Amino acid sequence: MIETNYEQHLAPQGVKRVNLKSSSGGYNKDALVLVYLAQGYPNTRWVTKEELTDFVRQFYPNTNDVQQARHLGPQKGYFVKSTVRGNHTESLPEEVRGRSAYKLESLEKAHPNYSPQRRTEQGVDFESLKAQYANRCATCGSEEGKPNLRYPQSRTSLQAGHRNPHLPLEADNIIPQCQFCNRADRNWWVYDERGRVVGVASATPVIRSIDRGYITRNDLKRIYEHIRKILET
Ligand SMILES: [Zn+2]
Repeated sequence: MIETNYEQHLAPQGVKRVNLKSSSGGYNKDALVLVYLAQGYPNTRWVTKEELTDFVRQFYPNTNDVQQARHLGPQKGYFVKSTVRGNHTESLPEEVRGRSAYKLESLEKAHPNYSPQRRTEQGVDFESLKAQYANRCATCGSEEGKPNLRYPQSRTSLQAGHRNPHLPLEADNIIPQCQFCNRADRNWWVYDERGRVVGVASATPVIRSIDRGYITRNDLKRIYEHIRKILET
């Protein structure tokens, strides 16, 4: 079940693969933790770090303290909520309040703070960047945590979106976008700092636009001449 969801939903969003077995043949700790958190999916529950540690000890008796759940989130991209990082205190069940606990929120959506090129980010404080945009999607204006303006059944979560998908996710190439406007599997557009489309980054929408007649015959000729000049030099 995790595998199917991973291939269908998470892999296209750049979430890192977690293999069940490590290269030495033993169970991978990340995989153990993920499987444990996924119990009863989609009706998952909050699991304390102690409980996870007990489970992993069945396979690795010398385990002191299981950190894997913490890393599965923003580092590997799995949508694992945490009591330490998030502010979910209102909604937390009594027994996990004030303790380190984790909950697998979705196997279809990546962690909202995850961006696949996170490692290349340098000195980017996404929280303050979001604040500059009043915690709204630069493109559609949906506010973080509130119902999405275009998909009101879904709660908006802001992600670090590329302005130009061909450039690294660095300070001046990031805008906050909601999970619907920032589709990592569809890097078609270039955005300005206001989240408006100012360019096309892929042949797909161009070809589609030609086929659908969005581009006039006269503009087709202009494009053709332009490309010909570039290719001939
Ligand atoms: Zn949006």
